[in-house]
Amino acid sequence: MIRRLAICFAVALAAWANAARAEQDSSPDARADRLVRAMTLDEKIQYVHTKVGHRDPANPPPSGPNDDVGYIAPIPRLGLPALHIDDGSLGVANAWNARGGDEATALPSGLSLASSWDPALAFDAGAMAGDEARRKGFNVLLAGSVNLVRDPHDGRTYEYAGEDPLLAGIMVGENIRGIQSQRVVSTVKHFALNDWETGRWSLSGDIDEVALRESDLLAFQIAIERGEPGAVMCAYNKVNGVYSCENRFLLDRVLRHDWGYRGWVMSDWGAVHGMLSSVKAGLDQESGDGYDNEIYYGRPLEEAVKRGKVPMAQLDRMVRRILRSLFAVNALDDRSGTEPIDYAAHAATAERIAEQGIVLLKNDGELLPLGSDAASIAVIGSHADVGVLSGGGSSQVRPVGGPALIVPPADGSPKGAPQMVWEPSAPLAAIQRLAPRAHVEFADGYDAAKAADLAARSTIAIVFAHQWVSEGWDVPNLSLPDDQDRLIAAVAKANKHTIVVLETGGPVLMPWIDRVPAVVEAWFPGQRGGEAIARVLFGAAEPSGRLPVSFPRSEAQLPPSAQGAAFREGRARVVFSEGAAVGYRWYDKTGETPLFPFGWGLTYTSFAYSGLEIPRSAPRDAPLTAHVTLRNTGERMGTEIVQLYVTPPDPAGKAPRRLAAWSKVTLAPGEAKTVALTLDPHVLKNWDAHAQAWRTPAGEYRIHVGGSAEDDRLSAEATLR
Ligand code: BGC
Repeated sequence: MIRRLAICFAVALAAWANAARAEQDSSPDARADRLVRAMTLDEKIQYVHTKVGHRDPANPPPSGPNDDVGYIAPIPRLGLPALHIDDGSLGVANAWNARGGDEATALPSGLSLASSWDPALAFDAGAMAGDEARRKGFNVLLAGSVNLVRDPHDGRTYEYAGEDPLLAGIMVGENIRGIQSQRVVSTVKHFALNDWETGRWSLSGDIDEVALRESDLLAFQIAIERGEPGAVMCAYNKVNGVYSCENRFLLDRVLRHDWGYRGWVMSDWGAVHGMLSSVKAGLDQESGDGYDNEIYYGRPLEEAVKRGKVPMAQLDRMVRRILRSLFAVNALDDRSGTEPIDYAAHAATAERIAEQGIVLLKNDGELLPLGSDAASIAVIGSHADVGVLSGGGSSQVRPVGGPALIVPPADGSPKGAPQMVWEPSAPLAAIQRLAPRAHVEFADGYDAAKAADLAARSTIAIVFAHQWVSEGWDVPNLSLPDDQDRLIAAVAKANKHTIVVLETGGPVLMPWIDRVPAVVEAWFPGQRGGEAIARVLFGAAEPSGRLPVSFPRSEAQLPPSAQGAAFREGRARVVFSEGAAVGYRWYDKTGETPLFPFGWGLTYTSFAYSGLEIPRSAPRDAPLTAHVTLRNTGERMGTEIVQLYVTPPDPAGKAPRRLAAWSKVTLAPGEAKTVALTLDPHVLKNWDAHAQAWRTPAGEYRIHVGGSAEDDRLSAEATLR
């Protein structure tokens, strides 16, 4: 009996050991290792640079007539398929051929998604884009845009996730996780401090280490911890005088050493300026090789390896990191046959995001939601009869069904300026559907007097106003372009029931704010934006978005570095003297009151906060949780985003508050709930440059709980010891 037991035990042990070995053998590291050992020098070199716009008839780009943004030819003898890379922050992009070609679900902007403050929704958006990418045949999506909005003039503000490192890091991290759940590698980009466009190819952002670690880098750190992106894209700009893609501090010290990052670093397209300098700093792959002055990671790298200037072991490490990341999410399975895509389900996802991203900024006299009984509604401006606006640049998606309208760049636009693309979701039709008995009439808004005339004849006037922005350019100022301020003022004068719906890339100034009872920020709401806007206007959906970015009252309120295109033009460096005091932290520090603060957003109901509880004293290294009771005191179902900010101890009394936790809560009328808010430990820490380590200072922390960065409805103190 004992013998039999012993045999059984030995057999089980052997089986377990085999399974463990097999698992180890099939681990991404082991698979990458084996391949690297089998690769020739040529094959390794092939893997460390990607081609843009390739024409390989044997492996055509997955998006039909469009070109790949990055491509590596297959290596059949090693079983490696072709690698197809595409842009994908806001859906599978195909800007390479905006007039024709492949289509994909066009999601709302990054700022819209961030306005939902809903990490699960960010995951869903990523999973949707990842699913389309895989079915179309792509292995890598260039997504995960997490640069902080330091300057609202930045032409890419719309792609990013706002001004706060915790909110942006969590939302983008979840988005990346969603993409990679579909067996597609996602990047996180643009590492680091690419917080502007003018002069992005060479301008240096200068900032001290503590401030950088506690702001922009913290957003990356959180996104990487959450999302584990397979690749990091280093940026065009310099940081403290050194190009990002050859910046040892960023790539070697912070990313690899301090954060233990194991994926690969790819360059942005045209961001490499030298072979040895970038290899030594820790760059693994040169992207879009036609963009750089030469193909540094082709012949020059090969020669350097042959001559021993770059050790073979270094090249091996570079290739291993790439393969490991691809294996880690199973991105190298066969993608040759394109699979059908459930575009109807994906359109519903796009609409859900747009809806949850809409922020109700103002609603005097409860003008909204509109009833279905309005006799007549004037819909004015911004091509609301055909569609909704999208942002320009590499993230541009050609929406399903094709663009509703393409407006070529205006006369005098810089050479190569992209065209404005309006996505096919007409607010006019959606409004008419929700108000079937109303007389709904459109005025294009080019003639303010005509628009005012229509408004005067209507029960309700809805003015659509837009601010188009694009990668490659910063906006010259934060005013609505094309005389739209005058249009709004004229309409508001003619009809006191005027609602302004904004489709903007980011914050804009509102000189007419006191003359308009209701304002809705819809951002660039994606291919179902018209439906989402109409549903919120009529209360078929409750407005639940909150601002991920502050809206200044005037440009004078912005920090000295946030002055837009003209300010940066021709400069070599910009000093970010505001340091880590980005966005609402800047307002907190300067005592200025913005027009609408970070975290702001109204609902169609009201909420009461009570009973804030937090331990009076707690150890520094244990989780710290506050509780607060929220009650829906209105008459409609509604969603509140309960926000907790913390002001850290600071003998100088200057430390601005930081968002440390939030909870999105939906309550029926009269319903109450006690909400737990656990403070994120990242936010409680300061970077100690001397010790090169994070420290949570002991002392008294002030806790503020409310519905925005300026709402001190409830506050308390907690001492950390
Ligand atoms: C952008 C990246 C993009 C790349 C490839 C660059 O100009 O900065 O975000 O992924 O192009 O299209």
